[in-house]
This record gives sequence, structure tokens and C-alpha cells, in this order.
Amino acid sequence: MGSMKEIFNSLLLKELLQGLSVTGRHLFARKITVRYPEERTPQSFRFRGLHALRRHANGEERCIACKLCEAVCPAMAIRIEMGEREDGSRRTTRYDIDLHKCIFCGFCEEACPVDAIVLTRVFEYHGERQSDLYYTKPMLLDNGDRHEEQIAADKAADARYR
Ligand code: SF4
Ligand code: SF4
Repeated sequence: MGSMKEIFNSLLLKELLQGLSVTGRHLFARKITVRYPEERTPQSFRFRGLHALRRHANGEERCIACKLCEAVCPAMAIRIEMGEREDGSRRTTRYDIDLHKCIFCGFCEEACPVDAIVLTRVFEYHGERQSDLYYTKPMLLDNGDRHEEQIAADKAADARYR
């Protein structure tokens, strides 16, 4: 009985017509394709993109070389070396992030007591050599300098929702 029904349905092209009805419905529906890069989808203020190291308003780097971010990183992507300045303050002499290892979990940002390391909204970057995705301290500070306005706004928005 079941096979008779299948034969009858195939003669009437039922499945084909069902498929065409789906196509027809979408033909006149509102298009949702985004024409990137001219058009963009909205981004969350908690978006986890490229890392940056921030500075205070006076230009001094925020990082106090506590190494919490290095300790918490599950991918062991962060490498820090530190030293003491003449004034007794502690600062990193080396701060590297290997983006090949990073899984963009954001734990480093969560762990940082002084909001120094952050993940920005930047996702449009690439590397053509392995070394291109090895971010050193000057590169991370440069990211922070270039995106500080957006980072500060995102931090303020994040604080409102906590
Ligand atoms: S985002 Fe996660 S994996 Fe990447 S450096 Fe920070 S803690 Fe490590
Ligand atoms: S970035 Fe933050 S958590 Fe990492 S060493 Fe500097 S102060 Fe500590």
C-alpha cells in the first residue's frame, strides 16, 4: 500500500512541487544577504577579536606585569617577561601573544586587574607568514593606541550590563 502511494505521489510530482513552492516563497521574501564589506552585521560590545594592550590617559601603560593573564590562558598563548624600573615599578619587558594558539576565550581580559589586555572588535587582519600572527608588545600597544576610543566605549557599555 505504501509503495502504491509513493508511485502515485511521484506521478503527480508532489515532492518536486513542494520543493518549488519553497523556492517560490523565498524568491519574493526580503533578502538577508549581507554585501560584505560594504554592509556589515551588528557587533556586540563584547566581541572578542584582535588583542590590544591599553595605556592610561597620561600615556603610561596599564599593565603591571602581574602575569595573571599568562597563568589563566588555557592555550598558553601568552608569554611575559618582566623587570623593575628605577622607580621600583614593575613592567613587562616582553609581552607576546601567539595568535596561532589563541582560542579567543577572553580569559586574559577577564583576569586582568587593571583592564590592560583586551580583545577588540577588530577581526579584519591576516598573516601571510607564521610570524605575522605573533603579536609582540609594541604591536599590542599600537593596537590599543589605535582603538582606545572604541575599547573605552565598549568597556563602559559592558559595565552597564554587569
Ligand atoms: S583569549 Fe584566551 S586563549 Fe587567547 S590569549 Fe587570551 S586567555 Fe589565551
Ligand atoms: S595584562 Fe593584566 S593580567 Fe596580564 S600581566 Fe598585565 S596587568 Fe597582569
